[in-house]
Amino acid sequence: MEFEPVIGLEIHAQLNTESKIFSGASTRYGAEANTQACAVDLGFPGVLPVLNEAVLEKAIRLGLALNATVVRDSVFARKNYFYPDLPKGYQISQYDRPIVEHGTLRITLADGSQRDIGVTRAHLEEDAGKSVHEGFGGMTGIDLNRAGTPLLEIVSEPELYSAAEAVAYMRAMHTLVRYLGISDGNMQEGSFRCDANVSVKPKGSTTLGTRAEIKNINSFRFVERAIEYEIDRQIDVITSGGKVVQETRLYDAERDETRSMRGKEDAHDYRYFPDPDLPTVIISDALFARVEAEMPELPEARKVRFIEALGLSEETAQELAFDRARADYFETVVAGCDNPRVAANWVTVELMGRLNKE
Ligand code: ADP
Ligand code: MG
Repeated sequence: MEFEPVIGLEIHAQLNTESKIFSGASTRYGAEANTQACAVDLGFPGVLPVLNEAVLEKAIRLGLALNATVVRDSVFARKNYFYPDLPKGYQISQYDRPIVEHGTLRITLADGSQRDIGVTRAHLEEDAGKSVHEGFGGMTGIDLNRAGTPLLEIVSEPELYSAAEAVAYMRAMHTLVRYLGISDGNMQEGSFRCDANVSVKPKGSTTLGTRAEIKNINSFRFVERAIEYEIDRQIDVITSGGKVVQETRLYDAERDETRSMRGKEDAHDYRYFPDPDLPTVIISDALFARVEAEMPELPEARKVRFIEALGLSEETAQELAFDRARADYFETVVAGCDNPRVAANWVTVELMGRLNKE
C-alpha cells in the first residue's frame, strides 16, 4: 500500500516586548537564573496579572498579515497542568476565543509553485520556565526567567503534505514575524520554535490518520529531519501490522530519531476555563484602525511590485523583498539612482557580498 503524510504545525513565536505579558518583569534573554521572575510570574497567592497592551498590537499585525479574522473580544483561559517549571499549576493561554482566527499564509516550494496554507488560529499565552538538567549533580534546576514571556501560538490546518512543505511554511512564517517586527525570530534562543503533528494515511483516503506530536523543534533542518523520520516510522508501524498511537514525541538530533515522551493529552485533560483574574480583551476601533493604517506593505506584495514595477527577476525580488531593512534600503538606493536594476545589483551583489565577507 502507498501512504501519504499529513502535517500540521503549531509555531510558538515569542513576542518582542520589553516586559512580560502579565507583569513588569524584564524579558531580556540571558540574565542570571531567577533574577527576572516576579511574584506575578510565579503565581503567588493574591497577585493579579495585568495585560501588557503591547502584545495586542503585535497580534493584530499578524492577523492582518494572514488575512485572518482579528477577534475583537478574545478571552484568556487557564490551561491546568503540573510541571516543575510552571509553579502556579496553570498556564494563562487562550482557548475557545483566541485573538486571531481563519487566516492563510502563502508558501513557495522549491519548484517555484505556490500554495496557500490555512492558519486555524493564533492565540496569546505566557511561556513557562525552564528545567535545567546540567550542572546540578544529577538533580534538576529550575530557571523561571522565561515564565510569563509573551508568546503567540500559531496553529496551521493539517494541510502540509511533506516535510519540505512543512519547512517552507515554517520559513514563510519566520520571515513574516520578523518582517512585521513582532518577534526577533531567534531560534537558538528559543524565540521561534514549533511542534510538528504528523500522521500518515493510505494514498487517496480522505480520513486523517492518528497523529504523533513532536515537541519543541527549534531549527528548520531538524524540523525536516524529524518529520521525515516520523513519516517512515509510522509507515513501518502500520505495514508491520501495528497501530500508530496518539502521543507526544521528542526529536533527538544526535541520533536523528524521534522517541516517545508521553501519551498525548486531550483538551479536556487541561480543564480549560476562563481566567477569572483577567477581563475580556477588547480591541477598540481606535486601536484596530491605527494598527491597520500602520501596516507595512507585505513581503509577497512587495516582491510582486519589485518584479512588475521595477523589472527585477523573481529571484532578486525575493532576495530583496523578504527582509524589511534590506528592502527599505534598496528602495532608498533606487530613489537616488533611478535605475532599479543597477540598484538591485549593487545591493545584492556588491553590498551583500562585502557584508558577508566581513
Ligand atoms: P493540540 O493543541 O491538542 O495539539 P489541535 O487540535 O489544536 O491540538 O491540533 C494541533 C495541530 O495538529 C494543528 O496544527 C492541526 O493541523 C494538527 N493536526 C490535527 N490532526 C492531525 C492529523 N491527523 N495529522 C496531522 N496533523 C494533525
Ligand atoms: Mg499541540
